[in-house]
Amino acid sequence: MKNYDLIVVGGGPAGIFAAGFAAQAGARVLLLEKNRRCGAKVLITGKGRCNVTNSEEDPRRFAEQFGRNGKAFLTALYAFGVQETVDFFESRGLKLRVERGGRIFPERGKAADVQRVLDSFLRETGVELLTECRVTGLKSAGERLSAVQTSRGEFVAENFVLATGGLSYPETGCTGDGYAWATETGHRLVATEPALVPVKLAENWTGELCDLNLKNVRISLQQHDKILAERFGEAFFTRQGIGGPIVLDLSSEIRAALKKGAVQLLLDLKPAVAPQLFDQRLQRELAAHSNKDFRNALGNLLPKDLIPLFLRLSEIDPYKKCHSVSKAERARLLQLFKALELQVTAVGGFDKAIVTSGGVALQDIDMRSMRSKRLENLYFAGEMIDLDGPTGGFNLQVCWSTGYLAGISAVQGISRPSQGS
Ligand SMILES: Cc1cc2nc3c(=O)[nH]c(=O)nc-3n(C[C@H](O)[C@H](O)[C@H](O)COP(=O)(O)OP(=O)(O)OC[C@H]3O[C@@H](n4cnc5c(N)ncnc54)[C@H](O)[C@@H]3O)c2cc1C
Repeated sequence: MKNYDLIVVGGGPAGIFAAGFAAQAGARVLLLEKNRRCGAKVLITGKGRCNVTNSEEDPRRFAEQFGRNGKAFLTALYAFGVQETVDFFESRGLKLRVERGGRIFPERGKAADVQRVLDSFLRETGVELLTECRVTGLKSAGERLSAVQTSRGEFVAENFVLATGGLSYPETGCTGDGYAWATETGHRLVATEPALVPVKLAENWTGELCDLNLKNVRISLQQHDKILAERFGEAFFTRQGIGGPIVLDLSSEIRAALKKGAVQLLLDLKPAVAPQLFDQRLQRELAAHSNKDFRNALGNLLPKDLIPLFLRLSEIDPYKKCHSVSKAERARLLQLFKALELQVTAVGGFDKAIVTSGGVALQDIDMRSMRSKRLENLYFAGEMIDLDGPTGGFNLQVCWSTGYLAGISAVQGISRPSQGS
């Protein structure tokens, strides 16, 4: 049986980076992936465009995005940060471009281009890849792992990286297999929850507006008449509720609030204008349409698709002349523009979650090397560790940084001629 320097379990972004960089350092590396191809999830990232990373250059500010665990991520980020990620792809011919919010995408807007670069990285570095190979268990001997058991037999190695991802979008192969092995080998697990998820609403009209992109809006999370959190940016209605970056970023706070009682979202379509000023704008618009039906007065203020909804919700007779719209009716209208109330009924599950929050506890990982504190030849990388950030390319950067660090740490000290660099 062949003896590898390193076996990497899981061919997602984290596993590919761990395997490729370890092989580039001269190690004999085997990458095991249960799907037919590596990187199934990459293809659906960023709605098929793959938000590769975020242009935030300051590692400290980047790490702050990960909340309480951000600081522990800094070593990996210093080892392989945003610039290294950009260089990695651009030096392999994939041009990137920065979009709103610092989101970095492939210039052609195709996630398949990212997957292609990752595939060729594995080939170029000489990683031995075995697909359709499901790892079923780990074999340990004392303080060390000795082998992995798989659907295609047992494989032995000196070192191991686990990068099996989380629990989100299970159809991509992410069924949390690595969590069970981590617990069996003595690692603590922080309870997992779906994160960055769309939200279900009681309103029955959201499906009518699925095609509408709400740009530059503010959404506030309200409970018991108190605003608990808010975000500014982009959102969109879905068949059953509301999604988009700012809703996904609020979803963990919404989930936590829902455990304590009813939750509303307040949608402000005109966040740059104070209510009083917007009321003056409404008065001007109504005056300009003075002798016209109210139904014709909203064209300058709203996207076309929203007008029927606003006419309905305002309960103002659409055939009423604008000059006879009352102060109370105008106040209702103002409320719709500045604080359209949406009743949250639920937050989506793992089938709709972009990432998994929780995972292998960072206290059980030496975050300077990604090495386990329980088994001396085991390393962790990617989504399976307790590190999740907001939308914007932050979560893939976790994979690039921790995958790189785990890979090179695992084979440190092995000196063989490099296969490609
Ligand atoms: C719809 C969607 C859109 C997203 N968009 C973005 C985005 O634009 N930008 C961003 O930063 N992040 C995005 N993410 C998050 C990002 O995709 C993940 O954070 C990232 O893929 C995690 O990488 P990973 O390598 O840790 O795990 P994964 O990508 O989940 O890969 C794990 C791999 O391990 C394999 N595996 C699991 N168990 C076994 C086993 N027993 N044996 C063998 N192989 C196994 C799986 O088949 C899988 O290929 C998105 C996620 C989703 C679901």
